[in-house]
Amino acid sequence: MKTLHVMTSKWTILVAASFLLIGCGTYKNVGKATNGSNLYQLTVDDYPCQVWNQERVDKVMGLMPSTMMKKWEGDILKRGEQALAGIPDLYIKWMAELHKKNGFSITAEDPGFTGGVVIGGEKYPEQMYIYPRTDIVDLVMQHETGHAIMYKIKFEMTQFLEELGPIADNEHENPNINAYPQLYDIGTEAYHKEFWAEAFNSYYCSPETNGLVKKQFPKTIPLLEKYLEKPIWVQ
Ligand SMILES: [Zn+2]
Repeated sequence: MKTLHVMTSKWTILVAASFLLIGCGTYKNVGKATNGSNLYQLTVDDYPCQVWNQERVDKVMGLMPSTMMKKWEGDILKRGEQALAGIPDLYIKWMAELHKKNGFSITAEDPGFTGGVVIGGEKYPEQMYIYPRTDIVDLVMQHETGHAIMYKIKFEMTQFLEELGPIADNEHENPNINAYPQLYDIGTEAYHKEFWAEAFNSYYCSPETNGLVKKQFPKTIPLLEKYLEKPIWVQ
């Protein structure tokens, strides 16, 4: 039986359904984002992401049909565009292809937590929810895109999660973990997926946050370099 798997804080709700929902973070409840993993949680105050010029923004937005982004407007839209501009074209194109196939969309809407990805019956993302708040929207966009891209990588490279698990668990031994509470238990697939999404966000947010992962989690970097496109600033 397929399940609807909603995780918020320490609660897990399992409901029979034909899709899977990855729900991330509990930002609005605690003032600061909680974190699904022990990777450093980026915040706009501490680590604003790289600001891209209009040419880069226009190029990225031009790769996606306008129907793919729902309910985006004003400052929220601007920050969402900046976040997407930091993500390699290959992944943007993949999401645009999904849109054509199954109607995949990125929605600026409160899903009950900071963000989430709905995975359809074919095990591909069908919708991404981004909580529309200017101080977190770009980081959440990149985190949730990380979850979505995980399904691309997982299908193309079957060893991916098997490789990720031990690394993500092992990095817990690193003393430089962040002070934010973790939502998931070490050793679980949910934990590994959150670790991945946070790593994805840090990898692409800015040269500074990329360097932060290198410094704090040196074992994670080879995995990111193996499976991910190079950041835009080194392409
Ligand atoms: Zn997540």
